[in-house]
Amino acid sequence: VIKEKHRNNYKVFESSISENLKTMFTMETELRKALSKEEFELHYQPQKNLKTGKIVGMEALLRWKHPVKGYIPPLDFISLAEKTGLIIEIGDWVLEEACRQNKYWQDQGFEPVIVSVNMSAKQFHQNGLVEKLEKVLMETGLDPEFLELEITESISMTNEKNILTTMQQLRNLGVFVSIDDFGTGYSSLKYLSLFPITKLKIDKMFMDDTQKQNPAIVKSIIHMSHSLDMKVIAEGVETMEQLNFLENEKCDEMQGFYFSKPLPPEQLSKLLVTLR
Ligand code: C2E
Ligand code: MG
Ligand code: MG
Ligand code: MG
Repeated sequence: VIKEKHRNNYKVFESSISENLKTMFTMETELRKALSKEEFELHYQPQKNLKTGKIVGMEALLRWKHPVKGYIPPLDFISLAEKTGLIIEIGDWVLEEACRQNKYWQDQGFEPVIVSVNMSAKQFHQNGLVEKLEKVLMETGLDPEFLELEITESISMTNEKNILTTMQQLRNLGVFVSIDDFGTGYSSLKYLSLFPITKLKIDKMFMDDTQKQNPAIVKSIIHMSHSLDMKVIAEGVETMEQLNFLENEKCDEMQGFYFSKPLPPEQLSKLLVTLR
């Protein structure tokens, strides 16, 4: 009986592995198709300066408009895209599209803002990244000072010399580099002063803590950023209480549903018009 049971378990196990593989292969094929069929879109979430009240930036967030399944959020396909290497091609598209859109807004006469683009570890470590950026900026006509790259602590500090070189080249080009989801990964504090990082993005998780009367981490990150001559932005701001708290603590910028969700470009244009 026991043997029988084992055999069945094994079969269940085996078939669930092949099911997973099948879904993965289907998804990979679909991701490839998505690129060639132009099923990707960028939505933009405005970032507000807390002193002036003005929109100073927009984060470009990737959306996959699947013909059957509808909108698929990035967390459902980014990691597969990273595993398969497709993230490089997808990332190229994101970069170009974000720069093009930002330049377009400037050409429409809106006050220039920085567009920030999320970059996975694989993208950051790719050969020729700096040249690629130079090319995209030249082709879209966007001034480098209106582009920011968001990297996470997961770029891993194993190859610190290469990371430092790349970051310095990016800064020399005029592009900004921020650390996304700050505080959720591993980063040695040493790197914050060593690398030419221009901004820290406080992860939403710590903003949620401020609601539970535990604002110590957010306060510390704000003060540390300023001591190290970096700007700081809070992500995932959902309430007026959080906003008041950030203003009191002299946080530079905020981003979150309380101000605006990520919006398709046409809708964001409308928001920009009303604020003009
Ligand atoms: P992220 O870069 O930390 O982006 C912030 C995420 O928080 C976005 O989710 C945004 O919609 C969401 N968010 C913003 N404000 C609020 C708020 O007030 N409340 C709540 N609950 N959520 C808020 P989204 O768009 O689903 O993106 C998830 C993650 O996917 C991003 O996290 C980023 O790591 C990744 N991602 C998105 N676009 C790209 C891309 O083009 N390339 C790469 N490599 N990764 C991307
Ligand atoms: Mg981000
Ligand atoms: Mg983040
Ligand atoms: Mg995140």
